Amino acid sequence: MSRNPLDGRTVFFPPMTEAAVRAISAAFRSVGIDARPMPPSDEETLLLGGRFSSGEECLPQKVTLGDALKLLVHREIAPGKMALFMPASNGPCRFGQYGPYMKTVFEDLGYGDVLLLTPTCEDGYSGVGDHADELLRTAWRSMVGGDLLQKLLLQVRPYETLRGAADRAFDEGLSLFCRAVEARGESHKRRLERMRAALREARALIHRVPADFSAPRPLIGVVGEIFCRLNAFSNDDVLRKVEAAGGECWISDVTEWVWYTNADHHRTLRRYGRLITPEALGARLKWHYQRKDEHALMEVFGDDFRGYEEPHDIRVAMELARPYLLPEGALGEMLLSVGKTVYLHGKGVDGILDINPFSCMNGIVSEAVYPRVSRDCDALPIRVLYFDGTGADRGYELEIFMELVREYAARKTTRRVLPGRFAAACAAGA
Ligand code: SF4
Repeated sequence: MSRNPLDGRTVFFPPMTEAAVRAISAAFRSVGIDARPMPPSDEETLLLGGRFSSGEECLPQKVTLGDALKLLVHREIAPGKMALFMPASNGPCRFGQYGPYMKTVFEDLGYGDVLLLTPTCEDGYSGVGDHADELLRTAWRSMVGGDLLQKLLLQVRPYETLRGAADRAFDEGLSLFCRAVEARGESHKRRLERMRAALREARALIHRVPADFSAPRPLIGVVGEIFCRLNAFSNDDVLRKVEAAGGECWISDVTEWVWYTNADHHRTLRRYGRLITPEALGARLKWHYQRKDEHALMEVFGDDFRGYEEPHDIRVAMELARPYLLPEGALGEMLLSVGKTVYLHGKGVDGILDINPFSCMNGIVSEAVYPRVSRDCDALPIRVLYFDGTGADRGYELEIFMELVREYAARKTTRRVLPGRFAAACAAGA
């Protein structure tokens, strides 16, 4: 048995969504690896991240670096005991430079012993030790469960009649789910049963939140760069601001990105004539089991997500982007944001917010094609917002956007299918 490179270390996860990082940390603990979310970002995050970057880097890099440095300068953990989860990419985007750049900063500051954990399929995920297969499946299930809870939270919170009740129920439900995820020594089958049971309880908690569903709010699809759109600190808590302005949000979740990377892997295999290889067989099996697990966890939520179904295959969204961006050439979030916008228009949303760090190439490319997308989607309001960590007041911008949204909602031709709770509320009020 090879030595686990993470022995004696704590793995920290950059704060994507609260649900995702808490759930994936639990998945790592399920195989005996100590793991935790990064502490919440704050002013010091930006101060430290800004001091050790030139200003040309993207906001997610600044936030992630600042959060990591906060732990180190306050000696909350010794460099030799810390590992930082840092996915990589070898595409053209600056994302691929985050890891190497952070490593340089750590070395310059005397924190060179911090381990950057960048698991990839090329090295058989050896970075996570001997439990890679078990961990990968649990990590996937944990992300799916976290996303589903977050989706339900966003559907209920705008309608709560007791302020803070939805967040409290979500927090409690997520803790239940994480406890089910992190149990050690379980078979995959038994762990799935535990997760489903925990999600059932979490769902019941969120359903018990006092809420008034008698009048559906305008529905805003939220797309964009993955970190900035999901990380409330980076986007100045834009989802809550939309809710405060009278809207409800449907955000593209973390698992969407995993499906996209799977689809991209299949595309590469086809392109290089490697469809009949052990690698391709492995990719097909992975897709099959991920889909099976996703269905098993989603089933727990009954008709909660009626009308809010994600594309049954991510390639559907990618194809919807084709009139504007070629899926074979325009990669990553720009493709997903544009394709998902068209998809969400078909689902009857009333507006789209595309959230990006300042100067993100994904946002810039999407913004260039949105006028055509909007024209083809009955003049659907689409607004691109860029964030740079300065906390600029966007109240005015959002107010104008919501005004356009209301005007569109009154004249749109695509109709939303509403989950049962709206029909039940209307029937009760009739
Ligand atoms: S996706 Fe955007 S924010 Fe992220 S690294 Fe690339 S350019 Fe920067």
